Amino acid sequence: MSDASPINVPSLRAEARDILAKLGVPAGRFAESGLPARSPVTGEVLTHVAPVDAAAATTAIEAAHDAFLAWRSVPAPKRGELVRLFGEELRAHKAELGRLVSIEVGKVTSEGLGEVQEMIDICDFAVGLSRQLYGLTIATERPDHRMMETWHPLGVVGIISAFNFPVAVWSWNAALALVCGNAIVWKPSEKTLLTALATEAIFAKALARFAADGNAVPKGLSAVLTGDRAIGEVLVDHPKVPLVSATGSTAMGRQVGPKLAARFARSILELGGNNAAIVCPSADLDLTLRGVAFAAIGTAGQRCTTLRRLFVHESVYDALLPRLKSAYGSVKVGNPLENGVLVGPLIDAGAYEKMQGALDAARALGASVTGGERVAAADEAFYVRPALVEIGRQEGPVEQETFAPILYVMKYSEFEEALALHNGVPQGLSSSIFTNDLREAELFLSARGSDCGIANVNIGPSGAEIGGAFGGEKETGGGRESGSDAWKGYMRRATNTLNYGRTLPLAQGVTFDV
Ligand code: NAD
Repeated sequence: MSDASPINVPSLRAEARDILAKLGVPAGRFAESGLPARSPVTGEVLTHVAPVDAAAATTAIEAAHDAFLAWRSVPAPKRGELVRLFGEELRAHKAELGRLVSIEVGKVTSEGLGEVQEMIDICDFAVGLSRQLYGLTIATERPDHRMMETWHPLGVVGIISAFNFPVAVWSWNAALALVCGNAIVWKPSEKTLLTALATEAIFAKALARFAADGNAVPKGLSAVLTGDRAIGEVLVDHPKVPLVSATGSTAMGRQVGPKLAARFARSILELGGNNAAIVCPSADLDLTLRGVAFAAIGTAGQRCTTLRRLFVHESVYDALLPRLKSAYGSVKVGNPLENGVLVGPLIDAGAYEKMQGALDAARALGASVTGGERVAAADEAFYVRPALVEIGRQEGPVEQETFAPILYVMKYSEFEEALALHNGVPQGLSSSIFTNDLREAELFLSARGSDCGIANVNIGPSGAEIGGAFGGEKETGGGRESGSDAWKGYMRRATNTLNYGRTLPLAQGVTFDV
């Protein structure tokens, strides 16, 4: 234990179990000697989840493959109907699932609910999409021919998710994969098994309604594999899984990516970020302060899009930094279920140790650190004040993603220098510029600007709407999920040429008369 004051939150065990029972999670999903499901809010073990072994995981994948063989022939708008019903069930159970997200991950109440809202939004998007899986008709060089492309379902889509968006990331993949005609098998984070089981129970309600409406529901269409990385590996290695969408650390992607490539399976990799913002001389500092504070401190720094590096022009540095320090000093850290609290706990002891390690490494480089200390505690609950680190150069811990609320602040004088530093890290997820100078804004968004998958002007890098394609470059993995045309990643494209004439002209003027 540290010197931090004890956290005074009553046990959440009964409430979590009550939510799981209300949502209809089957008793067989729990086992006394199973995987511990912990709350970072209190540090306590809430219950134990029955683990799935490799043989059971394989059986589930094979059942999903059989389900796919039937599901691919169901018309896409009908597949959309199942997702529509799922969206309705999520609306009906938003309060319970949102609360469970807060209990299991430590998100503040509005963010727990916001995560479920994101699930609802992607369901709506996918329902519309189920009538818009368009292929092109393409001009052909041959007379009396037509060329077109058609999009077909792919097979079983494996989904591996991280702890910090325990259910929304699954829904981004699941809603699209289902309307695209695929079956889904999910390996959730071993740190967030309860929200996964709750989501499975809510999806089961949608399946039951779909069946009650007279639709055939192929058995095994969706499965949840409760296990650790070894179970994730079963999914990655199985030849009947043509696509794995994996969200997590770059270290995970380094293991998963090459394995999928070796068997020519597809991957959507959504990995770590080291997101930055540039604050220019013309920036609106009130707006910048709010944008930076939410992006750097929100969700206790545990978003893949969290702002981790800030480049501030020397002309506004002294105006911005004291205000930022004061926000860091006054932001309410504590029980995320309480009104007014903006920063909840870190997920576990490992996260706390990594944060302290990064701060020590920054101090060793001469950085000045404000905050970062443990402010409230229980044996296994870790509440920290967000850390603001003023550092002279981009080196050491600044170049890595530490999944905790640490913001490294650096001063710059030339825009090009700031841009080079901005892009000078291995990760490439999200980015921002705060400026009212059109040239700077446009340059930042141009081919010579930010090298990230997400680039914003006068908005922090954290968070995203489901309508856009989400993902990043370089060590962030290159995958795209959610909106825009990300659905194409979940289907296979066939190019079709039809000859409605009586001759057989060959392309490129080739002759072959037999
Ligand atoms: P993690 O890498 O520890 O685990 C993620 C998931 O991968 C878990 O389900 C885990 O069991 C599984 N896994 C790990 N190794 C595996 C292997 N070899 N084979 C198969 N499965 C394996 O990540 P975490 O701590 O849960 O989450 C935090 C990380 O996720 C951060 O790096 C964060 O930036 C990243 N993240 C990225 C995005 C994104 O969209 N880019 C979104 C959320 C989180």
